Amino acid sequence: MSAALAPHLSALVQLRRDLHSHPELSYQEKRTASQVAAYLHALGLPVHQGLGTTGLVASIHGQGFSAAHPGPSVGLRADMDALPLAEATGLPYASRHPGKMHACGHDGHTAMLLGAAHLLSQQRNFAGTVHLIFQPAEEGGAGAKAMMEDGLFQRFACQAVFALHNWPDLPQGQMAVRVGPIMAANIRFEIRVRGKGGHAALPHTTRDPVPVACAIVTQLQTLVSRTLDPVDSAVLTIGKIEAGTVENIIPNEAVLYGTLRTLRDDTQATLVAGIERIAQHTAAAHECQALYIHKPGYPNTTNSAAEAALMAQVMAEVVGPENTHPNIDPAMTSEDFGFMLQQVPGAYGWIGNGKNGQRGTSLHHPGYDFNDDNIALGARFWDTLARRWLEQSSA
Ligand SMILES: [Zn+2]
Ligand SMILES: [Zn+2]
Repeated sequence: MSAALAPHLSALVQLRRDLHSHPELSYQEKRTASQVAAYLHALGLPVHQGLGTTGLVASIHGQGFSAAHPGPSVGLRADMDALPLAEATGLPYASRHPGKMHACGHDGHTAMLLGAAHLLSQQRNFAGTVHLIFQPAEEGGAGAKAMMEDGLFQRFACQAVFALHNWPDLPQGQMAVRVGPIMAANIRFEIRVRGKGGHAALPHTTRDPVPVACAIVTQLQTLVSRTLDPVDSAVLTIGKIEAGTVENIIPNEAVLYGTLRTLRDDTQATLVAGIERIAQHTAAAHECQALYIHKPGYPNTTNSAAEAALMAQVMAEVVGPENTHPNIDPAMTSEDFGFMLQQVPGAYGWIGNGKNGQRGTSLHHPGYDFNDDNIALGARFWDTLARRWLEQSSA
């Protein structure tokens, strides 16, 4: 089936590089969405635009499809947004928009799914429907959730949903997945430590919030190390501390800004309670007050067993069992595909991007670039996965 894509591959590579040159941030993916829609229209596919602002869906029905007997349907998802980052790849197709960059390879995810659209629409010897989901705003904007709030799964019913992310820690030609959580849930929080300001030389007339905030940061380090089952994982980081204006004034308030990443819902609840408890009691011990402000983020990306197993099976079929990691360790990064997996069973896997050349070593790096060798591989993977899933589900 890869042969069927070969004559169209250079156009897809060109399209991927064109998207790379014109990165668009969350919910601004207008040009990207119109390029995607144009490609899908050229394949003769109906395109439904405007879900979650700039998201779109194209449906490919197999032979013999009828509304009375629709058969099973499966969703494949790609994300389209770029990051607020100045590109430093020096590539001829580098970003033309200062301060915006495809540093997470979503340009490549889009191209891989368009390749799959090509393969699936040209050879419709399957029963059922494949919904191709192109979502906005994965990078912090919860575009998956926005599409769901616009009726994604009501309008395009899916019994399973799948997604792939390019992964620089794996060599190109390798793929990975796991059953259970593969990416973490994240929340952000603020702790506002309130004391009583005054003259820096008269601390006895104040309640200095600065050492209290520092004590809270230190005490928080005991949460992951002392309250969590060591086999479970979590990350608690205070990334920003704000207090005061000048060295001779004790401020009224000190503010801590942090993020918490967890793989399990109960772990998140335990640690959030612990953060509040430590903040409040440490502040009280020093006659200050602590206000905890919770900012919900993305849920865990938790793969269901049957869909993760199918993904591993198709990976082995496409890249060989020796290049497939069916039980990879999870990453503490977050992904809004987790919202989709809360509603529909499915799985999220990784396609190795490699680290060679100018591609940078990590996602979100100014030197990062998607590996174009993955367009054909990713398309073939999606094509095979959709067919295997539909076969299984109509049997
Ligand atoms: Zn990213
Ligand atoms: Zn990403």
